[in-house]
Amino acid sequence: MTENRCVVIVGSQWGDEGKGKIVDVLAERVDVVARYQGGANAGHTVHVGSEEFILRQIPSGILHPSRHCYLGNGVVFDPVQFFEELDALTARGIDAEPRLGVSSRAHLLLAYHKMLDRAAEAGRGAGKIGTTGRGIGPAYEDKVARQGIRVADLRDARRAEELLRAAAARVNRRLEAMETDERVDADALVAEVLQYRDRLLRLAVDTGRVLDDAIRAGRKVLLEGAQGALLDVDHGTYPYVTSSNTTAGGAALGVGIGPTRVDAVVGVVKAYTTRVGSGPLPTEFQGELQDRIRELGGEYGAVTGRPRRCGWFDAVVVRYSARVNGLTGLAVTKMDVLDTLDEVQIATGYTAGDQVLDDFPAEMALLEQAQPVYETLPGWKADTTTARRWEDLPKAARAYLSRLEEITGVPIWYVSVGTRRDQIIDLGRAG
Ligand code: GDP
Repeated sequence: MTENRCVVIVGSQWGDEGKGKIVDVLAERVDVVARYQGGANAGHTVHVGSEEFILRQIPSGILHPSRHCYLGNGVVFDPVQFFEELDALTARGIDAEPRLGVSSRAHLLLAYHKMLDRAAEAGRGAGKIGTTGRGIGPAYEDKVARQGIRVADLRDARRAEELLRAAAARVNRRLEAMETDERVDADALVAEVLQYRDRLLRLAVDTGRVLDDAIRAGRKVLLEGAQGALLDVDHGTYPYVTSSNTTAGGAALGVGIGPTRVDAVVGVVKAYTTRVGSGPLPTEFQGELQDRIRELGGEYGAVTGRPRRCGWFDAVVVRYSARVNGLTGLAVTKMDVLDTLDEVQIATGYTAGDQVLDDFPAEMALLEQAQPVYETLPGWKADTTTARRWEDLPKAARAYLSRLEEITGVPIWYVSVGTRRDQIIDLGRAG
């Protein structure tokens, strides 16, 4: 088996698949962890012993002593939130700062992006996208419109001030046009940025160079995505998506290495499906099962507390995800959440009117009409939380997992059976 030096971890449904937990488990086996997209809306939850950590920007690998963690150029970087998170880790005894780096090419997410996000979402009325209001969309808009401010732009203080004042004036014109009362105070904005500028510049690096060097030197690197494949701006359920490329192709791009450097892609999927916010979810549970799984799985947003919509495992989604991400292995999480069910269902395809859909459609109208075609398997009605080897799982649970492999065409590398680090089954296929 070839050694997988550079591995991408990608959410392969609609996000919240438990990537934080999988990254946390795998971080123990690597030297470097880097995030390649997203912003502070991510909210990975990691349980270490009895302690719970919610990490929004800093890769959860930081919880392992001596791991180095980076935020790539593909991230929109919220400095205020980042330093709050960093200080909170330090206060809990985790010496994170010397082990962190931020790409000089990462775009800054500033207070005015949050104002624009709130104003835009309020203006959408009933057509809300369900954004978390953290400014991520507007920060990516600025990046693509070539009017963003990058970490490297802070090097020259005078130039930085000019850019900030120009941005404030531009944003205020937009806020006025959007008929909101909020305005950017340019002096306060400049003062705020100057406050953390030196500290941030000390962390600024070329993440591409650092990671490429690490891989060449034989170190193991994990590239961590936020959200999930179905929220990818290109491949997701547009327009109910995030503003970046969450899929594995975005990983190389978002840290600054070439795609040929990536050796493997692990897709994290829940043993069922969830989705937060608006947009189609073909396998959504009806009735009592919705509340039951939501409670058993603790399906509430880590940052927003918003209840998530839950449904059966959707193999159409994961098959599609396997293709657009080039998945080499699956990590199936939250298997234990299904422990009490009499039977479990898997959507193997959809019908829409008189059409049979075996692939995930680009047309939202088709997806909204999609009726899942289900396969029903017996439940295992036994506790899986103490299983540590494949053989420890009940027979029906193994049958369910084997069926997921068959239908998605991707071998399972890991099965997670609880929130704790040790509650994992490693099938020994990761290399
Ligand atoms: P992420 O952004 O993909 O990491 O998703 P979340 O932070 O929302 O993580 C999902 C939640 O599920 C966290 O509270 C995890 O501790 C929890 N979790 C992860 N894996 C498992 C599992 O196998 N079983 C159970 N019961 N909970 C899990």
